[in-house]
Amino acid sequence: MVKQVDVAIIGAGPAGATAGIYTARANLKPVVFTGLTSPGGALVNTTDIENFPGFKDGISGAELVETIKQQSERFGAKYVMDEIEAVDFSGTTKILHTQLGEEYHARAVILAPGSKYRHLGCIGEKEFAGRGVSYCATCDGYFFKGKDLVVVGGGDTAMEEAIYLAHMAASVTVIHRRENFRASKIMLDRVQKNTNIKLLTSQVVHEICGDNLGVQAVVLKNTETGALQEFKTGGVFVAVGSIPTTGIFAEHVQVDESGYIQVFNNSSATSLPGVFAAGDAIDPQYRQAIVASGAGAKAAIDAERYLEGLEV
Ligand SMILES: Cc1cc2nc3c(=O)[nH]c(=O)nc-3n(C[C@H](O)[C@H](O)[C@H](O)COP(=O)(O)OP(=O)(O)OC[C@H]3O[C@@H](n4cnc5c(N)ncnc54)[C@H](O)[C@@H]3O)c2cc1C
Repeated sequence: MVKQVDVAIIGAGPAGATAGIYTARANLKPVVFTGLTSPGGALVNTTDIENFPGFKDGISGAELVETIKQQSERFGAKYVMDEIEAVDFSGTTKILHTQLGEEYHARAVILAPGSKYRHLGCIGEKEFAGRGVSYCATCDGYFFKGKDLVVVGGGDTAMEEAIYLAHMAASVTVIHRRENFRASKIMLDRVQKNTNIKLLTSQVVHEICGDNLGVQAVVLKNTETGALQEFKTGGVFVAVGSIPTTGIFAEHVQVDESGYIQVFNNSSATSLPGVFAAGDAIDPQYRQAIVASGAGAKAAIDAERYLEGLEV
């Protein structure tokens, strides 16, 4: 049987869950789809979140997502553990098909499917994730104060991460697989002028090594000679990009060349009326929980205004 809803929210990370609070408080009885593979979103894989306002002693990622969920449920949001696998956004009524065989018809949709960090795929990366391997300097840099660190990557993100970490680390070494960097000249100049940052080129991380205290070293492989060398480090920051989880939606709403959903007019409006977007799926730049939550609030307000027949 088809289920009719006012607002369908796809994603239950900080963006979707916050949109849940706002739309529920607007009495729109939102249905929040959590997905099946990562119901709480990216934060569930983290330990302590120390930069989300309101939690002075920090909070675990899983607890933060659960708290926002419970807050939205208090106002009537309904969570559905199911994945949207096909959509038809062509009409005024938005049609969603789920992996468990349900069909939903929504008057408005908020897309908040998140993004994933690209991994190196080397030996030890998985084993030491969260124990010395990080994908976000803003999130985790503080935990690595005073250590010798490596940043892996050659684009602007890698340069930004290196500059951020250089303020607190004993030293930062940027490891890049090529001789030349993809980063913009201005970012590269800043890195080269920073006496706490060294650049190591034509090297890939072959292995991340450590013990029960965490990462202790990386084994680097020279991309020209194939020679291996051990390089001592207290932490590895991987900055080789991210992939938005916009898969099936990218065929329906306008996305940029990397697959991020495009929003217009400083709002959350996508290229389709009645379809809004928020969170990491629209944001290659900040990728922070508080930013995703803010974007979720915007999307909810935009959806509410749209349903009231107001311009968004
Ligand atoms: C290891 C790690 C540590 C981090 N540490 C911090 C930190 O300390 N501070 C900080 O501010 N940020 C941190 N971040 C970043 C933060 O997790 C993200 O910015 C934030 O989670 C983005 O929120 P989101 O709601 O956009 O997406 P996500 O949290 O990724 O949620 C996406 C949701 O969409 C669902 N979904 C996807 N596709 C579908 C579909 N087809 N159907 C139904 N559901 C779907 C997923 O299941 C999930 O529920 C960290 C990230 C990682 C990976």
